[in-house]
Amino acid sequence: MCIGCSGFASALSVAVDGGGAALSGPLDVQWGREVTQAVPRAGDGPLVLFADGRQKTFDLVVGADGAWSRVRPAVSPVTPHYTGVTTVETSLDDVDDSYPELGRPIGDGSVSVYGVNRSLSAQRNSGGHVKVCAPLDWNAGLDLADVEATRSSRSLLARWQRI
Ligand SMILES: Cc1cc2nc3c(=O)[nH]c(=O)nc-3n(C[C@H](O)[C@H](O)[C@H](O)COP(=O)(O)OP(=O)(O)OC[C@H]3O[C@@H](n4cnc5c(N)ncnc54)[C@H](O)[C@@H]3O)c2cc1C
Repeated sequence: MCIGCSGFASALSVAVDGGGAALSGPLDVQWGREVTQAVPRAGDGPLVLFADGRQKTFDLVVGADGAWSRVRPAVSPVTPHYTGVTTVETSLDDVDDSYPELGRPIGDGSVSVYGVNRSLSAQRNSGGHVKVCAPLDWNAGLDLADVEATRSSRSLLARWQRI
């Protein structure tokens, strides 16, 4: 089962604010300090530049700052790029009672089905909440700016057969 972002964030927060005991010793967490650049230096620890103008040398820098990482350019020129696939996400509440035929194959995890140039994935979150994702079929002629038409369209599922 997927842990929701808020639950995961509060579990991490408890671990950190509780002195970091669950995370191997006391932690000096500095919230809100934005990194702008990490500079590797031969023979010296990497230098990290912060948005507030400060900079500091560290023994080790772990870049865990997401898709648009400010640290990654220190080791790779690769940046995120659009692959051409857009996924539409919807969600279902109370899946076990309201949609038991979907709840069963999902179990405590997720279920995905794949075909040529298409897929459909359903993932259980907490509280009977399920996320369903499907890549958008550009041939379906959907105008995403027209939210109501997109919501009511069945063309997202047109190439699937009910079993
Ligand atoms: C809607 C959605 C659903 C997802 N569902 C799943 C799922 O069910 N299962 C799964 O495995 N993955 C899922 N993912 C993917 C997963 O969230 C990411 O792969 C994962 O969070 C990446 O972790 P990360 O630590 O690299 O980056 P992030 O989780 O993005 O964390 C980056 C952190 O760095 C901080 N940061 C960013 N820039 C700076 C900066 N310049 N200076 C300082 N700090 C900075 C941010 O504030 C953030 O706290 C989902 C993603 C999305 C968007």
